[in-house]
Amino acid sequence: MNVRTVPCLTDNYAYLLVQDGHAVVVDPSEAAPVLAALDGLVLDAIWCTHHHWDHVGGIPALLAHRAVPVVGSRYDLEHGRIDGQTAGVGAGDTVRFGSHVARVHTIPGHTLGAIAFEIDGGLYPGDTLFVGGCGRVFEGTMAQMRGSLATLRALDPALRVWCGHEYTVKNLEFAESLAPEPEVVERLADMRAVRARGEPTVGRPLAAELATNPFVRWDAPPVAAAAARLGADPADPDAVFAALREAKDRW
Ligand SMILES: [Zn+2]
Repeated sequence: MNVRTVPCLTDNYAYLLVQDGHAVVVDPSEAAPVLAALDGLVLDAIWCTHHHWDHVGGIPALLAHRAVPVVGSRYDLEHGRIDGQTAGVGAGDTVRFGSHVARVHTIPGHTLGAIAFEIDGGLYPGDTLFVGGCGRVFEGTMAQMRGSLATLRALDPALRVWCGHEYTVKNLEFAESLAPEPEVVERLADMRAVRARGEPTVGRPLAAELATNPFVRWDAPPVAAAAARLGADPADPDAVFAALREAKDRW
């Protein structure tokens, strides 16, 4: 299986998972770039990490191109939040594509119906985990979001993170402002260089998030100390996370 990154809208990414002339698309915010990227591949299914328009907006036009299953969370199916959705899945469920099986993780917080797909060494967390950051907490609680990020950070550190937006440089600038650890400073310089070449920053190992992303490092002393300066109890993971997320919302 290989992965094609499909830039959409301003800073969104959809992804084509490709094997033997067939493809699954993850989070098609618009149809035209996805159809162009398909380039003769047969679309087998549409997988959605959550219901936001900038992740599902392309579904009606893709279904007009070819009627395929649309997989999202059980919550979003029950609430009718994704046009054309045919299947609802949650934690512990699996979804097949070709010879591969995706594991589904339920990760509420950004939205209550957010899920991640894990397949063939890749993790598709939508807007819950970004390279260097995390999504805003729109529907869930801060504790829920931290719990979801705890689920993701416990996965295989070799997984490559294919997230929903190109927010990496801003995220790492925020991380550097909290605690200019050498790994963070170095990664920010690396990612700036990647962007200067016009390339996406996504598809990098989860291990790099564990070393540089403050939103999965609530128990790392430099990050907890930064949260303490923001008024949080550094020994309380939920308080640390909430302080960081609120600071990023204002940043
Ligand atoms: Zn979103």
